[in-house]
Amino acid sequence: MSQIAGRITPRVVSREVRLKRRPVGVPTPDDFELAEVTLEGPAEGEILVRNLFMSVDPYMRGRMIDRKSYVPPFELDEAMTGGCVGVVEASRHERFNVGDHVLGMHGWREYWLSDGADVQTVDPHLAPVQAYLGVLGMPGLTAYVGLLEIGAIEQGDTVFVSGAAGAVGSVACQIAKIRGCRVIGSAGSAAKTDWLLQTAGVDAAIDYKLENLRAALAGACPDGIDVYFDNVGGDHLEAALDLMNTRGRIVACGSISTYNATEPPPGPRNLFRVVTNRLTMRGFIVTDHWDRFGAFVRDASGWIGSGQLRWEETIHEGIESAPEAFMGLFAGENLGKMLVRL
Ligand code: NDP
Repeated sequence: MSQIAGRITPRVVSREVRLKRRPVGVPTPDDFELAEVTLEGPAEGEILVRNLFMSVDPYMRGRMIDRKSYVPPFELDEAMTGGCVGVVEASRHERFNVGDHVLGMHGWREYWLSDGADVQTVDPHLAPVQAYLGVLGMPGLTAYVGLLEIGAIEQGDTVFVSGAAGAVGSVACQIAKIRGCRVIGSAGSAAKTDWLLQTAGVDAAIDYKLENLRAALAGACPDGIDVYFDNVGGDHLEAALDLMNTRGRIVACGSISTYNATEPPPGPRNLFRVVTNRLTMRGFIVTDHWDRFGAFVRDASGWIGSGQLRWEETIHEGIESAPEAFMGLFAGENLGKMLVRL
């Protein structure tokens, strides 16, 4: 950005990541393209925002496929979108001042213009701004709504969380502990299971890449599972189904083990357990639950303040590293929230 006598000139050059082709199977760097655009300064009623952090999330994989879903697919040769936090660099909007920190859906780029309709200011004193993309943002709310409303956890429940050391899972494990549950988490490395045991305070942690998942889960849940928070699907769902207690609840949050599948993945072979054990299996999409955001932030801020809710971030540097950060989600490279600092 160039400045003349303290004023922002009305033009910035912004780099952005575009989807070049639709990935087949595991995404590769060739599916993405870094491009440069020039943005004019904000028009009357607009703001210009410089992104500080952008989020990469597993759901974005679904948006790379050209199919009807709960969000439209990304267009080819256009910058992708996603959660981001930035700072207002220039404002011609009465609701925003230069220097305000804002949350928006204009990730995958360095700068953006907005009329403010889809933008929320965030308090940088409550937590580092990037927390609004993780523990205090969409993933945190997903864990909160998923456990408390969809799974309706109760004190004393045995709760199994897969993908337990990721953005959603790590918060889910800790909320379940705060609510007096016995918590078992599964994750894909010793560093992650150590973090779950030592920092998140779970009762048992399974390294599913090292251990036999079914056997380890049965060993960790001698009294069965009351609530399964499913981030992974596939073999994790099948293993959990076998151990669900009568009237147990399955929170169908995600199915990351299937997102890169090139053939329809096989269904759980034991789905009939839903009938015999009177299980409830309920899917949800967090964006249907934004009305709970205020309550969530109040509760989560309190838990952070009292040291009951901890979080981790895995941070890549620079817009050019965004595809690598995204692909890293499917290789389990992140502990906690995967982010890109811009
Ligand atoms: P994470 O931070 O958990 O990152 C993804 C993690 O998934 C990886 O670190 C990896 O950890 C694990 N993973 C990747 N591939 C596999 C695999 N084949 N088998 C098992 N684990 C795998 O992501 P989020 O917390 O953002 O998302 C977690 C889940 O929640 C996803 O399924 C996502 O789609 C879903 N979600 C759903 C929402 C909703 O509204 N329903 C909203 C937000 C997220 P590891 O090392 O443990 O393998």
